[in-house]
Amino acid sequence: MNILMAAAECAPFCKTGGLGDVMGSLPKALKKQGADVRVIMPKYGDIPQKFKDAMVFRMLHTVQIGWRYQHCGLFELEHEGVTYYFVDNEFYYRRAGFYGYIDDPERFAFFCQAVLELVPLLGFHPNVIHCHDWQTAMIPVFKHAHYAERAFYRVIRTVFTIHNLRYQGRFGKHTVQDYLNLDVNYYMQPDRLEYYDDVNWMKGAIVFSDVVTTVSPTYAEEIQSMHFGEGLHGLLTSKRESLKGILNGIDDEYWDSNTDRYLVEPYKTSLPKKRKNKTALQAELGLPVDDSIPMIAIVTRLVEQKGIDLISCVFDEIAHTGAQIVLLGAGDYHYEEFFRHAASKYPASVSIQIKYDEGLAHRIYASCDMFLMPSAFEPCGIGQLIALRYLSIPIVRETGGLKDTVLPWKADEGSGHGFTFIAYNAHDMLKAIHAAVKAYADQDQWTKIVKNASKLDFSWEASANTYIELYQTL
Ligand code: ADP
Repeated sequence: MNILMAAAECAPFCKTGGLGDVMGSLPKALKKQGADVRVIMPKYGDIPQKFKDAMVFRMLHTVQIGWRYQHCGLFELEHEGVTYYFVDNEFYYRRAGFYGYIDDPERFAFFCQAVLELVPLLGFHPNVIHCHDWQTAMIPVFKHAHYAERAFYRVIRTVFTIHNLRYQGRFGKHTVQDYLNLDVNYYMQPDRLEYYDDVNWMKGAIVFSDVVTTVSPTYAEEIQSMHFGEGLHGLLTSKRESLKGILNGIDDEYWDSNTDRYLVEPYKTSLPKKRKNKTALQAELGLPVDDSIPMIAIVTRLVEQKGIDLISCVFDEIAHTGAQIVLLGAGDYHYEEFFRHAASKYPASVSIQIKYDEGLAHRIYASCDMFLMPSAFEPCGIGQLIALRYLSIPIVRETGGLKDTVLPWKADEGSGHGFTFIAYNAHDMLKAIHAAVKAYADQDQWTKIVKNASKLDFSWEASANTYIELYQTL
């Protein structure tokens, strides 16, 4: 089975969030099941130099974007057994960061078009092109519009995975002719790509892919409701028979407390050794060094989705629980400012790191006792999976993938491995935090919770199997 995955990010080449983690680990897991999986992505300027140096130039091509022809290079790299293709155009991709540019619709229309143009030249005939999130959403649409008649493409099926329905790729309708080269009369209809007089890429992918999936069973249900559906709940409900929620896993070789190169003390399942990482981190961040103080960590993009409003609403109360608070994140300016101020208020118990830092994230997951993730919605969530893998107990809101992966601790039954709350309410979250801090104070109880966490398996094996079965049905 030949699978070509197309995505806008993929660890370790580039990552801004969970999509990067998934793309960095799912292909490897599918390979283990016997599929030939390759990944195609843009060749961003910010890919670490060592990877760029190792890439092999494959070919030069020209890609039509709207009414223009653009240069398109293709590079290839074999990394940990997987073949990666990198689409090159320095005008589009040699910039700082990965997205968020005014010309993103043009940059990713080019990428989608390039993928389809290059596929017959790879010497690899995919059975399935598996597209991830809005940046790749035009692939199924272009396939339908421009390639449907060609024999090479007719046998290729498309799968589209929604990693986050909030980011749909919604642009002005002038872009349809400028970048997409689509027949406006046919495609700009309410049952195709048109959305309140704009063009909506993700809507197009949902309509034109052979199968649509998302990243947890609960999120697959939720997005069919008005509250979570981000305006596409009607369309998604009409697809409910084929809309599947397949839980993300994590790369358990990369996220391994026993071999993690960023940690000062490998610890596997030893809590005393885990605490050595905590005291090292306390020293690194200038916090009081004392392994008996509970540490609550937050590693996240600072955006509304992540429940940052709940945290800021009761920040003083959290700071008064006696726990240390460590936050690593970057994002919306007003949240960053709030936390900078909070850090100055509580220098002895709060450390705020406004940045993206892979190594520090590893040290935080390993060092903290509790991991706070009170999301307003969460398609799957990778943070809580990494936390559990590192025996850090999640405090989460029961939504999407958080609900599917974190079972609340029930002291009377001795079951569960996290602390949860249901309503999007700051004081409900605070209650869960208090319960966690109280449980931590009773070391027997805490050891039981951690033991439950240590038995969990969030590797890709089960989900990779489900994807293979899905591809087979196509
Ligand atoms: P999302 O994809 O919505 O951002 P996830 O929980 O699915 O959320 O994935 C987030 C991923 O990004 C995790 O691997 C997390 O550790 C990482 N991450 C988020 N913010 C940072 C940061 N500031 N520094 C390092 N890693 C981060």
